Amino acid sequence: MSNARPVDNFVDRPTFVTHLECGLSGERYAADQLHGLSRAGRPLLVRYDLEGLQGAVSKDDLRQRPADIWRYREFLPVRRTENIVSLGENMTPLIEAPSLRAGTGGLFIKDEGRLPTGSFKARGLCLAVSMAKELGIARMAIPTNGNAGAAMAAYASRAGIEAYVFCPEDTPEVNVREIAAQGAKVWRVNGLINDCGKIVGAGKEPMGWFDCSTLKEPYRIEGKKTMGLELAEQFAWSLPDIIFYPTGGGTGLIGMWKAFQELKAIGWITGKLPRMVVVQSTGCAPIVKAWKDGVEHADLWPNAHTVASGIRVPAAVGDFLMLRAVRESGGFAIAVDDDAILAARNEVSRREGFLMCPEGAATFAAYQQAARDERLSPDETAVLFNCASGLKYELPRADASIDLTKPLDFDAMKKA
Ligand SMILES: *Cc1c(COP(=O)(O)O)cnc(C)c1O
Repeated sequence: MSNARPVDNFVDRPTFVTHLECGLSGERYAADQLHGLSRAGRPLLVRYDLEGLQGAVSKDDLRQRPADIWRYREFLPVRRTENIVSLGENMTPLIEAPSLRAGTGGLFIKDEGRLPTGSFKARGLCLAVSMAKELGIARMAIPTNGNAGAAMAAYASRAGIEAYVFCPEDTPEVNVREIAAQGAKVWRVNGLINDCGKIVGAGKEPMGWFDCSTLKEPYRIEGKKTMGLELAEQFAWSLPDIIFYPTGGGTGLIGMWKAFQELKAIGWITGKLPRMVVVQSTGCAPIVKAWKDGVEHADLWPNAHTVASGIRVPAAVGDFLMLRAVRESGGFAIAVDDDAILAARNEVSRREGFLMCPEGAATFAAYQQAARDERLSPDETAVLFNCASGLKYELPRADASIDLTKPLDFDAMKKA
């Protein structure tokens, strides 16, 4: 009998977490213990022995490893290999979109829709659930606009952890169903994601669940950090000039910025870092407003609405971390309206055959807008993030049909 296995990344490797740190106050917290927010009520960031890490892994080592997020194991917090809960978190491709370029610089779309559960939420929740397993958590709860709940449901089921999910009542139908199909208990709530978050907060004591809300646990950022590590590696350790990121809770933006700092600290990248651009919808743009107002914290956005449900986040606990990344990088924050988002989805899919999710399409609309406003210089190479499969969202109807009882009408087909 053969016990041959394909080459994989699930081998023991040294890990380097030293402690956790409040993103606002810098206060230290012990590693390998259960934590939510810091005492200041702000996100905790995972810190590493970067010198040790640097001595343990090289760029060449990476080349030998399979193309998934676990190739960056030394940069990740999971201590014991058996706690890794994986559904195959593949590296995602960078797809060039030459016909859509606004100038002479390159234009690439990072297609996160190819990850497990069809969105980049898999990166964060894979790490959050793996760490939950490592820390002995039996029950988790999450407020979600859809994709995060779906990813948590999938990984929690695989880990044997009970999952409770709360989403706004107008969450895309496919999301609610996939959450239920993947073994979680799911409720529609007649409110927005922050209202769902309040339910999760209120249930902590009576339900004994762990609050897996965006940035209220420390490890989703580490999962999203792999987007920054991947980009650096895919750009041969140089990096693009500017990154357009559809921003809700901001995990990905904060995670990528953290990745770049860590890579810089170990000398794997040098020079200028990409300009980070927050993209939101005009129907929900708290970070854009805070950026324009020059303040460090954003106000709650009233009556939030947008077709891009993943970025409908009226209040984010990591607002100051996003704003810092945008300002330190020389980036900006920009809002586009729903018509521009849907027009952008249409244009990218018709011209380049790439069906973006509305949130991803928002980044293309923002790229075009920034080029018109001359906030983007013509020679800048840009990366847009397509965060979920376009197939998870409602699409325009296509109603043409053929009646086999009638003769075929090829002329009509040409005109269709
Ligand atoms: C969650 C989500 C976002 C926003 O990501 P954050 O990192 O939480 O800001 C954007 N697009 C899609 C499709 C999402 O599911």
